Amino acid sequence: MTRRYDAVVVGAGFGGMGAAIELKRLGLHDLLILEREDDLGGTWHVNRYPGLAVDIPSSTYSYSFEPNPHWSRLFAPGEELKRYAEHVAVKYGLKPLMRFGVTVTGARWQGEHWEVSAGGEIVTARYLVTATGFLSMPRKPDIAGIDSFRGEVVHTAAWEPCDLTGKRIAVIGTGATAVQLIPELAREASALTVFQRTPIWVSPKPDLPIPPAVRKVFARLPLVQRAVRWLGSSVLELMMISGVVRYKQLRVANRLAELWCRAHLRRQVRDPALRDKLTPDYSFGCRRPTFSNDYFRTFTRPHVHLETSTIDRVDETGIVTADGRTEVDVLVLATGFDLWDTNFPAFEVIGRDGEDLGAWWRQNRFQAYEGVTVPGFPNYLSLNSPYSYSGLSYFTTIECQMTHMRRLFTAMRSRGASTFEITRRANDEFLDRMRTKVKQNTVFSLGQCATARSYYFNQHGEATLLRPTSTASAHRAAASFPVSHYDFSPSPSLCISTTRGAP
Ligand code: NAP
Repeated sequence: MTRRYDAVVVGAGFGGMGAAIELKRLGLHDLLILEREDDLGGTWHVNRYPGLAVDIPSSTYSYSFEPNPHWSRLFAPGEELKRYAEHVAVKYGLKPLMRFGVTVTGARWQGEHWEVSAGGEIVTARYLVTATGFLSMPRKPDIAGIDSFRGEVVHTAAWEPCDLTGKRIAVIGTGATAVQLIPELAREASALTVFQRTPIWVSPKPDLPIPPAVRKVFARLPLVQRAVRWLGSSVLELMMISGVVRYKQLRVANRLAELWCRAHLRRQVRDPALRDKLTPDYSFGCRRPTFSNDYFRTFTRPHVHLETSTIDRVDETGIVTADGRTEVDVLVLATGFDLWDTNFPAFEVIGRDGEDLGAWWRQNRFQAYEGVTVPGFPNYLSLNSPYSYSGLSYFTTIECQMTHMRRLFTAMRSRGASTFEITRRANDEFLDRMRTKVKQNTVFSLGQCATARSYYFNQHGEATLLRPTSTASAHRAAASFPVSHYDFSPSPSLCISTTRGAP
């Protein structure tokens, strides 16, 4: 006999924990949270590279219903995020529901429940929630000879503490991770070569320690921290709206953001040739910009070299480009994550008519109603879906999705139903609306994004990751979407037309 749960949540990061908290609030207590890694925390458990810190102010990068007055800095270091995740899991009774080291390989809708293949075992549940993250599949670059390298090779998502003092280090990649890591590596390396293919827009980071007296105020007067959260969220919202979502209407704000980053670069790097190499040729916002106070400056140190010629191959002891060869002891792959090829979804999901979600997305555009549900996949909440990511702080997305779940489950129950499925019509309308907004307003279609190589774009060149609306609009939609957009039925299975449904 396989055990039957109310719901299985895949992923014990902040997304999966938020979903589990919401399901518990809705009275679904027989939950199972499956996690591939050996502990909770998602990205904040996996990533341990030197310099790891949040790049969104911590008061904003946390659950609104669980403020943490103890952040040591405005932008907390990674281990504090991991501790916060641990605290939430304990406080909300999630830890006993979690099973670690279990890789889910597939899930299949069986008419009235989901059958989930997990670590050689089958578990069944009425509802399935996937919260496997966007940035969960590390990408190893396809560079000739990389496996022949005899020194150490480490991806930033598999960092092990080691002594790098006096080593000749090479870093491949200049994304947000590399921006945090490179200044740290420069402190230890005897020589550091950074292989850059695409430069990144970097803004100064208004980071400060939070004095103990202020933390005490946050603990005693939560409203004060709430105000700080509101301020941080508003600044981020302004950046997102002016830089990305409303590019057409606020192009000048996007241009100002570029100038701000250029001025930061000019202050830190005097050499115009080096500055030129570090300056992006694509519009601000086409790919995720980042914050750092010491990234640019690091390249002015005598033992740090920025290499922009294309890597030809890696051999046993170094990296070869058209311009020459660099001897290396340690090769650091800051090469990011595979989103569109190996994720979406992270494992095989088979729906009502035997439809394979991954194949369906690839053949019919990446889509999900409100970034949460997919027609043909009853009782399934896919939290890392196309158009789901709203705003700059991931917690905005998480809390919108929690609100969506609340409204959906409440409506389902009030109808005496236990099965939900989004109608094709509502899904199609949502997709059309998102595509129109991306096309008419955003930097993705109106800016210069061709050279950005941004993971916001899928393999067909469409920007289908971010929701092209304000976060206020995302919150409103989550709280007030027409419940008639869903078909509800008692179990066992849906027998009503999925083309029904009106706004
Ligand atoms: P990323 O932004 O995808 O950057 C990967 C880098 O590796 C890019 O510079 C890419 O160059 C380069 N690269 C990949 N394959 C390559 C190849 N074959 N040859 C040469 N270069 C190659 O990944 P990331 O830096 O890990 O950041 C991912 C995301 O994580 C960020 O955007 C951010 O959302 C998140 N993050 C957040 C924080 C935080 O504090 N909250 C911190 C770090 C990261 P191309 O651009 O030319 O492809």
